[in-house]
Amino acid sequence: MVVRLGDFRNEPYTDFTKPENAASMHSALAEVRAQFGVKHPLQIGGTKYETGDLLKSVNPSAQSEVVGLHHKATKELACRAIEVADAAFAAWAAAPVETRASMARKAAAILRRRKLEFDAWLVYEAGKTWPEAEADVSEAIDFCDYYALQMRKLAEPEALVQLPGERDELRYIALGVGIIIPPWNFPLAILVGMTVAALVSGNTVVVKPSSETPTIAAKFGEVLAEAGFPTGTWCILPGAGSAVGDTLVAHPRARFISFTGSRDVGLHINELAAKPQKGQIWIKRVIAEMGGKDTIIVDEEADLDSAVQGVLVSAFGYQGQKCSACSRAVVSEKLYDAFLQKLIPKVEAIKVGPADDFGNYMGPVISDKARQSILEYIEIGKKEGHLLTGGGRAPGDGYYLQPTVIADVKPEARIFQEEIFGPVLAVSKARDFEEALAMANNSEYGLTGAVYSNNPEKLRAAADRFHVGNLYFNRKCTGAMVGAHPFGGFNMSGTDSKAGGPDYLLQFLQGKSIATKI
Ligand code: NAD
Repeated sequence: MVVRLGDFRNEPYTDFTKPENAASMHSALAEVRAQFGVKHPLQIGGTKYETGDLLKSVNPSAQSEVVGLHHKATKELACRAIEVADAAFAAWAAAPVETRASMARKAAAILRRRKLEFDAWLVYEAGKTWPEAEADVSEAIDFCDYYALQMRKLAEPEALVQLPGERDELRYIALGVGIIIPPWNFPLAILVGMTVAALVSGNTVVVKPSSETPTIAAKFGEVLAEAGFPTGTWCILPGAGSAVGDTLVAHPRARFISFTGSRDVGLHINELAAKPQKGQIWIKRVIAEMGGKDTIIVDEEADLDSAVQGVLVSAFGYQGQKCSACSRAVVSEKLYDAFLQKLIPKVEAIKVGPADDFGNYMGPVISDKARQSILEYIEIGKKEGHLLTGGGRAPGDGYYLQPTVIADVKPEARIFQEEIFGPVLAVSKARDFEEALAMANNSEYGLTGAVYSNNPEKLRAAADRFHVGNLYFNRKCTGAMVGAHPFGGFNMSGTDSKAGGPDYLLQFLQGKSIATKI
């Protein structure tokens, strides 16, 4: 069978401005709310465990509401999970690609069927607004379908040079047990993408979800089970990263670690995984996608209105809690004042409040700790530049913050260099395009970036010299689409694994060359 890329289509978004869709979403929110506070046991290889040590996940829009309670893994159970995954590996790796790919397609179909329910879990556990939740669930569906397709393509590798008197072939085979460690900010899409990529390639996995979003992970466990992935091939193992994370990463039978999260945790995992343990017979592979400090350049030859809109949505969508979020706008001095004059009223018009209210553009940040850290950065920023709007908490029972803009920020400022991961935008002035480019590249990160300019020569220069993994012209710097924008960054943004791209699955596979004398 010939597998074509045209067989893939991105999942369309539900239009919530249509009254019938809004009504369905309200029903889904009510159904999910009715399940608040349920206790979720830990499951390893079909056996349920209740450790009694409960992880409490709360609604960041209303911190008194408990979304779910999860029995946390101990170090012993973390080891047990790896042993079960290890035992299941040989049979799963030998299963036909078509079997594994059709399970991934089935997972996509189940997520599609339960889409609004998953949207609602994301609203309540991650504080995503309806459109942000919808984009997250749609991306999860895309990952399942896209990786199913890519695995089927990899099962028919390109023909090799055939030496005279030989038959020469290359097969891609699975690696072994993978440890999957996702962040909370795309609690479904990234968790699903990393997990399904590993499974469809024939690996078995132990997934340690973020402690902020364990219920969404547990719900995805239901999808994996219904899609037919055998128990033993996967396990969702909640627990504090600092408590069981090291046990999982250091285990001698862990073959690879697929991590997405902050720079510091990623570097720690990379270091720990590099150290061979007693009985370990391989070099662990680490796929680590980490933080960002993303810039939008607004050139003097830009369409000002579209640049303002692009910066606005990139900086404040999901409260700025995206690795791809625009946290610094570098604006030509010729447009600088006009840019701010147009931007500030729009920022001030942003409605902040509970994520389940469709009228709010911004919901809460994920936790009190996150809010505290962002507020500290705002205080630093007030000294490093001029606060133009925002600068503090927004009212309500949740972890709300005002969208904040700090202008006249110099490149050496901490708020220009460090990842804040919240609704805080630094705006800086550039003399000309060359200086803007130099400022954009002045970072240890290199994840996303955008340029607004109508000058093709400047865009060509940016294509060559703006050093980021995902570059956009005359559009926002967030919202990468599976299949169209393979995602991953340079430098301290990670290993540039390019999730949702044609090469991604190769990181979960190893090539075996077989030459037969004929
Ligand atoms: P985090 O690094 O705090 O946590 C990520 C995951 O690592 C969580 O599941 C956490 O429990 C786990 N963890 C923590 N300590 C661990 C340890 N010692 N061993 C093993 N696991 C451990 O990040 P976060 O706050 O969940 O996510 C936000 C960060 O993720 C931001 O820096 C953001 O830029 C980044 N991010 C990057 C991408 C990307 O594709 N590059 C995508 C999304 C988020």
